[in-house]
Amino acid sequence: MPLPMPSSLTTVAPLQVQQLCPSNSISLTQNPPWIPTPYLLSKYPTIHHLSSCKTMKQLTQIHAQTITTGIFHDNFVASRILSFAALSPHGSINYARLLFSRICKPDVFIANTLIRAYAFSLNPVDAILFYTHILEHSLVRPDIHTFPLLLKACSEIPSLSLGQAIHSHVFKLGLSSQVSILNFLVQMYSSCSSLESAKLVFDRIPECDDASWNIMMCGYMKCGRLELAREMFDGMWDRNVVSWSVMINGYVQNSRFKEGLELFREMLVKKVEPSESVLVNILSACSHLGAMEQGKWIEGFLRKKESGFTVRLGTALIDMYSKCGCTEKALEIFHEMEEKNVLAWSAMINGLAINGRGKDALNLFSEMEMFGAKPNEVTFIGVLNACNHSGFIRRTGLLDEAEKVIKTMPMKPNSVILGALLNACRIHGNTQLGEQVGKQLLELEPNHSGRYVLLSNIYALSGRWDCVAELRGVMRERGISKIPGCSFIDVGGAIHEFVAWDNTHPESEKIYGKLEEISRELKLAGYKANMSEVLLDMDEEEKETALCHHSEKLAIAFGFINSKPGTTIRITKNLRVCADCHSVTKLISKIYNREIVVRDRCHFHHFRDGSCSCMDFW
Ligand code: ZN
Ligand code: ZN
Repeated sequence: MPLPMPSSLTTVAPLQVQQLCPSNSISLTQNPPWIPTPYLLSKYPTIHHLSSCKTMKQLTQIHAQTITTGIFHDNFVASRILSFAALSPHGSINYARLLFSRICKPDVFIANTLIRAYAFSLNPVDAILFYTHILEHSLVRPDIHTFPLLLKACSEIPSLSLGQAIHSHVFKLGLSSQVSILNFLVQMYSSCSSLESAKLVFDRIPECDDASWNIMMCGYMKCGRLELAREMFDGMWDRNVVSWSVMINGYVQNSRFKEGLELFREMLVKKVEPSESVLVNILSACSHLGAMEQGKWIEGFLRKKESGFTVRLGTALIDMYSKCGCTEKALEIFHEMEEKNVLAWSAMINGLAINGRGKDALNLFSEMEMFGAKPNEVTFIGVLNACNHSGFIRRTGLLDEAEKVIKTMPMKPNSVILGALLNACRIHGNTQLGEQVGKQLLELEPNHSGRYVLLSNIYALSGRWDCVAELRGVMRERGISKIPGCSFIDVGGAIHEFVAWDNTHPESEKIYGKLEEISRELKLAGYKANMSEVLLDMDEEEKETALCHHSEKLAIAFGFINSKPGTTIRITKNLRVCADCHSVTKLISKIYNREIVVRDRCHFHHFRDGSCSCMDFW
């Protein structure tokens, strides 16, 4: 059962505003480590213990002492105790809230501590609820430090109406010329997809700093307006490392991998030191493009540094090497890593599984359990992939087993798992179950074009053209267009990209010449086009030409022109390889005696001597 390669291993969350504007940053533990002065110690001997407090149990003991000695009534003492409960990783936000209600005259500093804790919690809306509570029930009034926290909470939720309400408070209190607050307003509006308002606020910032520019650019990136972000970036006269990170990470997160890599190279030429997040993103771009040379270069770059690579970078390297089909390198990195978390283990298990080493993957999984690392959903996908690749499921009747696995999974099957089941239905021609799963998926992900295409393929297989037409109507209605298939090939460290019917490549003429030659050879070998997956209403001859110009075929032709005989051709495709391209590539590998490795959205295909490693199940 093919499962999509999980990308969650290396995806990086968009930069947060506190990373974007270090000058007026906020963080969960904003306060520096607290060291009581001799004066305070002599005044309140009990609080001496606070600086060494490690658990809530210790805190409650200290709290009890402050009550019995009567010093809890001093706001300074109360704020220290509340601060531990609210902000420490060992604290308890509920306890902090209880403490707050026991303070006779709380001040804004104490209130801000609690708002901060809520804004960074899993329920950021509590920050807003608490804020309205103190406005109604206490004399505490917000100050300049309160609003960045409230706006952060609104961005996290995200809620435009709450954000607008907070904005009006900022305005009423006469704080709308504070750059630090305006920056957070820009972020709030862009997080709530209200780019126009974000730009309006941005334009009114009296003295824009670097942070303001970076936040605005990041907002454009988040909303997919890459060209506007790029315009700003190009217009910046002083770009710092954060500006570069915003642009590069933005490209990668919007699947514009080539542009991300190009900008990364420019960054290095300008001698700007890349941050960890940029390196992780670039490695993710390399794995999407199959750009192993570039990925290798980053490994070398990291090895030259004294700090070596972190768990995050190590995991990204494992993922990159695995997805470039080089498990040995991935294993080398994995064994070298001193510290391994669940993501590192999952990356390696997945890496082995997608490269057809199912047994090794399952062994590693048991090793992982022995080490006491708790598997998560990503690990689970790897294990399912491993079962598939070692033929465990196929032996026993793929679909029944897959259905059983899905029903007994510890978590509710998500779209990834259902998508895999749908694909399995297509492979096995089970249109009945396929239709059922397909409809379920469309409800879950009404904007995912790939789901429509797969269901449409299933209908087409059973010749139900009326259903195909109906589905296409739904797609049109909902404004969903099919993602164009594109293939990448790495030739001498440069990535060449091809889409179907591509004639933009400088060597286009040669490529089509080579394709014609290949077609002649194929016909001589008895090839007949497989048109089951051409869904357009064309006549047979047109269908054949349409298939002939699929992006991976163009990439293969280009690979032939630009590589020495006998060398392996490596291609990466963003979608699933179609049945025709699959059988053509098998034949080509035999006729030309060439190994061709194609990595599609779900699988590795190692074509050699007329057959494929996936055994025609993909
Ligand atoms: Zn194709
Ligand atoms: Zn294959």
